[in-house]
Amino acid sequence: MMVPVRCFTCGKVLGQYWGPFQERKARGEDAGEILDSLGVSRYCCRRILLTHVDLTDDVGPYG
Ligand SMILES: [Zn+2]
Repeated sequence: MMVPVRCFTCGKVLGQYWGPFQERKARGEDAGEILDSLGVSRYCCRRILLTHVDLTDDVGPYG
């Protein structure tokens, strides 16, 4: 499914970080350094971006 817009625990808005995080990770940057540079410092927020699996394209055909 889609990345959560807000952190489940603290409520920080995370939706805008998913695109840049994916692009930079695909280029081979270290995930922890990307999150540091994006300003995602709390571990409750970091775990959401680190562990998210985007299934939007997989479930799309099933309506
Ligand atoms: Zn959080």
